[in-house]
Amino acid sequence: MREYKLYIDGKFVASRKGRVESTLNPFDGSVVGKFEVASPDDIDSAVSAARRAFDSGVWSDLSGEVQASYLKKIGEKINEKSAELVELEVLDSGSTIRKAKDDVALSARAFNVFSKLAAAVNEREMSEISKPGFARNILRYEPVGVVGAIIPWNFPLKMAAWKLGPALAAGCTVVLKPSELTPVTAMELAGIIDEVDLPPGVVNILPGYGQDAGETLVRHPDVDKIAFTGSTAVGKKIMQIAANDLKRLTLECGGKSANIVLDDADMDVAVDGSLYGMFYHSGQCCEAATRLLVHESIYDDFVRTLVERAKRMKAGNPMEPSTDIGPLISRKQVERVAGYIESGRKDGFKMVLGGGVARSGELSKGNFVEPTIFVDVNNRSKIAQEEIFGPVLVVSKFSTDDEAVSLANDTVYGLAAGVWSRDLRRAKWIANSLKAGTVWINEWHLLNERAPFGGYKQSGIGREFGRTGVEEYMEMKHIHIDDGVPRQKRAWYDTVVPR
Ligand code: NAD
Repeated sequence: MREYKLYIDGKFVASRKGRVESTLNPFDGSVVGKFEVASPDDIDSAVSAARRAFDSGVWSDLSGEVQASYLKKIGEKINEKSAELVELEVLDSGSTIRKAKDDVALSARAFNVFSKLAAAVNEREMSEISKPGFARNILRYEPVGVVGAIIPWNFPLKMAAWKLGPALAAGCTVVLKPSELTPVTAMELAGIIDEVDLPPGVVNILPGYGQDAGETLVRHPDVDKIAFTGSTAVGKKIMQIAANDLKRLTLECGGKSANIVLDDADMDVAVDGSLYGMFYHSGQCCEAATRLLVHESIYDDFVRTLVERAKRMKAGNPMEPSTDIGPLISRKQVERVAGYIESGRKDGFKMVLGGGVARSGELSKGNFVEPTIFVDVNNRSKIAQEEIFGPVLVVSKFSTDDEAVSLANDTVYGLAAGVWSRDLRRAKWIANSLKAGTVWINEWHLLNERAPFGGYKQSGIGREFGRTGVEEYMEMKHIHIDDGVPRQKRAWYDTVVPR
C-alpha cells in the first residue's frame, strides 16, 4: 500500500500534527493508500516556501521558454506513468477506467498546452495610444504571486493540472490543496514535479480538510490569489474570507445545465449525447447535462428511447473496461443523492428509471446509486433547481424556442448548456440567448484548454484555460513613459501649479 507525505519546499514531509488517514476505494471501501493530512501549520510552512520561491525570482525570473520546458517535461512524465496513474485514479476516485484513461491523457495535454502559453513577465507597447514625441504606453503582465489552489474530488489529477498549468505558466508559485477524499494522483503528481527538479517551493501539494487546511490557505496574508474549484456554497464562503484582504479570486463552482432538444434534432445522436452529458462519471461533473428540455412534439418518443438506452448502461467495477457507471465518491454523497430522489418522489414527479441505492448484493460494498430519470418535472422544483451531483436526470417539455430559453435560464447557475438541432442557425440563436459560460451545439462535455471555461451567475467568477486563463494569474500594469514633452506643453500642470 502506498503512503503519501506532504510535498513542501521540495521535500516530502510528515504532517506537523502527525495526522495520517486512509483513502478509500469508492467501489468496495478497501484502503487505497495512507496520506498525511495537512494541518494549518503545514499550510503555513507551504505558503512560506511558496512566498520565498516567488520573492527570490527562482521561477518568475526564468524566461517563458525555460518555464515551458519544465511544464512540457511534467506532461511527458505523466504520459510515461500513464498506466499507473490510470489505475490509481480508478481506485481512489471511482472513475471508470475508460474515463480515467482520458483524464490522465488530458492532464498531460494540459501541461503541454500551458507550456505553449508560458509567459511569465511580458509586455507590449500599446501602439493604439502611444504617440511618439508625447508618450509611450506599455502594457505589462506580471505574475500575481503566491497562489492557493483548492480542488474537488471528481477529476483529481485533471483538476490539479488545470490549476498548476496556468499558474506556473503565469510565473506564480503554488500551494495546491487536493480534496481529502482523493489525494492519491495529486501526490503522484508531486512525485513527478520533484523528478523534473522544479526549484523547491515553486509547487507545494498538501491534501487536507477544507475547514482547517483550506480556510487557512484562503486566510493566509502571504497568499495573493485563491483559485478554487468546488461547490457554490464553499465558493461563497471563500469569497467572504478573501474579501478581508481583497485577495485575487477565481471560482469554478457548481451547475445545473440545461440540455435543449429541438424538434428537428438527430434523435440517435441527441439521445446518446444526452446520456453521455448526464451520466458521464455517474453525474459527478460540474457541467453535466442535468436538466433535459425536450420539444413537446418529440417528447414521448425521445424519453422512451432515452430510457431504453439508459437501461443498457452497466454499473459495476470501474476497473472493468465494460463498466459504464461507476460508484459515487462516498457514502455521504450516496445519502445526499438519495435525499434528492426522495424529494422528487415526494413532489410527485414520475420516475421512469432507477431510484435505487445498492444496499445489498454485489455492489453494496460500493457507493452505487442507479441512474435515475424523472419526467414532467416542474423547473421550479428542488430537483430541477439544486445541484444533485449524482446520476439523477430531470426531464421537462417545452413548446417554443423562447420557452426553452426561458426555462434554461431559470436557474441561479450558468456553467454550461447545450442545444441539439439540425438547423444550426436556429441552434446558434438559442446558444446566443443562453446565460452560460459554455454552450455546446450537438455535443456535450468537450472542453478545450485553449478555450475559456467558467460560469455565469453563481457558477463562478473568472475563466480557466487559454491565454485568458493564464492572465487570471497575472496582474496588469500600465506604464506611461513621457517622451520628452517640454514644460510649456504640459498645460494640465497648470490646474494646480501656478505659472
Ligand atoms: P466542495 O466545495 O465541498 O470542496 C471543494 C474543495 O474545497 C475541497 O478541496 C474541500 O476540501 C475544499 N473546502 C471545503 N470547505 C472549504 C472551506 N471552508 N475553505 C476552503 N476550502 C474548503 O466540493 P466537492 O464536493 O469536493 O466537489 C463537488 C463540487 O465541485 C460540485 O459543486 C461541482 O459542481 C464543483 N465542481 C466545479 C467545477 C467547475 O469547473 N466549475 C469542476 C468540478 C467540480
